[in-house]
Amino acid sequence: MPIQPTSKIWHNGNLIPWENATLHVMSHVVHYGSSVFEGIRCYTQPQGAAVFRLPEHMQRLLDSGKIYRMALPYSLDELCAAVVDTIEANGIAPCYIRPIALRGYGEVGVNPKGSPVEIYIANYPWGKYIGGEAADVCVSSWNRLAPNTMPALAKAGANYMNSQLIRMEADTNGYVEGIALDVNGLVSEGSGENVFLVRNGVLYTPPLANSALSGITRDSVLTIARHLGLAVMEQPVPREMLYIADEVFFTGTAAEVTPIRSIDRILVADGKTGEITKKIADEFFSIANGLKPDRFGWLTPVKVNATEPVTA
Ligand code: PMP
Repeated sequence: MPIQPTSKIWHNGNLIPWENATLHVMSHVVHYGSSVFEGIRCYTQPQGAAVFRLPEHMQRLLDSGKIYRMALPYSLDELCAAVVDTIEANGIAPCYIRPIALRGYGEVGVNPKGSPVEIYIANYPWGKYIGGEAADVCVSSWNRLAPNTMPALAKAGANYMNSQLIRMEADTNGYVEGIALDVNGLVSEGSGENVFLVRNGVLYTPPLANSALSGITRDSVLTIARHLGLAVMEQPVPREMLYIADEVFFTGTAAEVTPIRSIDRILVADGKTGEITKKIADEFFSIANGLKPDRFGWLTPVKVNATEPVTA
């Protein structure tokens, strides 16, 4: 889906026109993938709009920067306020928010320390990421990042070269997404989503040690599941568990809670969305959209004239 430009982008403390948020081709990030970023959603509410788990996302941005020795010259509170300012300046909700910190124009060598850190925050309207009711996916022939190569807990631009291989292979073979295994052949995650499965009433998801990103939706689903009284296991998941699971679903800011209908053309149970997936999705969307109380303190209100939910 083509991006829909808005009016302003936040850059190093100032709101600048969308079309002025450009980079020089010799910027470090263009050559070496030296960026860390976030993807956040702002949902409409009965009374306005709110950002979902804003401090957790901005803390992950700071953490990603720390892993790469890319100190961001703003506090957590300042970064959260910058996101709110950007959304309010553009007046768009619901929307997707993309904060990114990158190594800009400076030196040309691999060592990033001579290239300045630039921070941008953009927001724009965005609908469903994985279209349709339920997803037909494959297990990718590409593995996720091996430990001690590219740190999987950093949400870094360069990691998404691996994600692109997973996603393109799935697309080429007629699937909407791929699930990647880690280097040891255990289930890791999708190209941009964490993965959950249900078997005999127990909810399973791979631990972060299996090269998965520390997904904020993953954490939200774990919290919701525990509060619903479900048995939850963060434990290594062998590939074949996917084929014999009663329910499988993706979680992510973009994917939200997306049921999986089949894996490698093997139907998940009878191919219909399972009851536990439905319960968790219902709770997740009810909280995000302000239809149930925000009992975990996940919402940061923003002042915009909320528009209709985007469904494209
Ligand atoms: N894994 C990967 C590789 C991702 O890109 C994402 C999206 N950020 C996720 C998992 C899900 O993370 P979150 O729920 O924080 O969006």
